[in-house]
Amino acid sequence: MDKIIMKTPLVEMDGDEMTRIIWKMIKDILLLPYIDLKTEYYDLGLEYRNETNDQVTIDSAEATKKYGVAVKCATITPNAARMTEYNLKEMWKSPNGTIRALLDGTVFRSPILVKGITPYIPTWTKPICIARHAYGDVYKNTEMIVEKGSKAELCVTNADGTETRDIIFDFKNSDGIIQGMHNLDSSISSFARACFNYALDQKLDLWFATKDTISKKYDHTFKDIFAEIFENEYKEKFDEAGIEYFYTLIDDAVARVIRSNGGYIWACKNYDGDVMSDMIATAFGSLAMMTSVLVSPEGIYEYEAAHGTVQRHYYKHLKGEETSTNSVATLFAWTGALRKRGELDETPELCAFADKLEKATIDTIESGIMTGDLYLLSTLENKTKVNTEDFLKAVNEKLKELL
Ligand code: NAP
Ligand code: MG
Repeated sequence: MDKIIMKTPLVEMDGDEMTRIIWKMIKDILLLPYIDLKTEYYDLGLEYRNETNDQVTIDSAEATKKYGVAVKCATITPNAARMTEYNLKEMWKSPNGTIRALLDGTVFRSPILVKGITPYIPTWTKPICIARHAYGDVYKNTEMIVEKGSKAELCVTNADGTETRDIIFDFKNSDGIIQGMHNLDSSISSFARACFNYALDQKLDLWFATKDTISKKYDHTFKDIFAEIFENEYKEKFDEAGIEYFYTLIDDAVARVIRSNGGYIWACKNYDGDVMSDMIATAFGSLAMMTSVLVSPEGIYEYEAAHGTVQRHYYKHLKGEETSTNSVATLFAWTGALRKRGELDETPELCAFADKLEKATIDTIESGIMTGDLYLLSTLENKTKVNTEDFLKAVNEKLKELL
């Protein structure tokens, strides 16, 4: 078989620890034999980020803007322990945070479903994809402890110097607490466009929910911005695609999610997304089966796994011990990026390859060959636990049958 030719490069962001090991294995075993792989390579491994004063992260985000599609390996976000371990010049910021800010992107997380691993909610037969608005609200708040006898007010100094005030609470009889938060129309609009674009891309309904009946200005603004952008820019495209935008109250949304079969995108405000994404990930079984894609309002895509660098397994690997680390989410980051590249470049053979590689991966697990994390969860009768590399080799055997 001739290797598949790529017209445009993918931006490749390498990473850290066990996922860096898996990254190379995926390329060597499943990609390079079949594709004339064109990538623009950026090493986001912590050592090189430190060497370049994190410039490499910024460069990789700029390249993503240029080429439109990136695939990223999990990376270490440094903490105090990493400062010593890697002898760092500075506690560099999370690469994901930096890239998200530069692309003004929204993160969508979806579980990969396989037979034998039943979600805790067994009626969830299709994935629920969660989108979290990652700006503002309680994550950029100002809080105060207030003493009895104080009066708290909201005060805005307007552009012309005048003040607009409103009372929050008169703390006559008790000590208490207050909190101020904000959001930006521009950020909410970007979030809305990323959600509408991704719904069209995936041909899935989009749900959005807030508490606008109680929060008549703050949450209502989210509802209004979504409604206006939908009416003006997306309604016709949604009709053509046969998908729906559905707005409801957050408590109603939660009830409907539990009763649903899945198969939609759920857009969440920042706090709701923080909480609900952990619930959805746990309910679907394994963090190692959760994919993640960052989508910008202009339709730029960066694919990755939702999990981290699997540090504990890496230390075992360094000691020469065998590991059984799940590579599925990282593999699906590659297939997602290759398929998107194929769509944009009109190379259907690249899209078909991505589809077959995903099918080969799922078929392998459903035939009973899986890594340790899934072995513990799977209800299949004939199942075998394999090591990190043997799993990818088993996928390659299935892939050969499909090609
Ligand atoms: P983690 O790497 O997601 O791993 C936490 C635990 O989950 C692992 O120890 C393992 O459990 C299990 N697990 C996760 N992925 C797995 C996989 N593919 N196969 C098998 N088991 C898997 O989270 P962490 O240990 O909290 O973080 C490690 C590093 O990753 C940190 O430096 C953090 O900054 C970074 N991180 C990066 C990203 C990103 O780049 N997107 C996201 C999150 C964290 P057992 O040990 O029980 O087997
Ligand atoms: Mg959370």
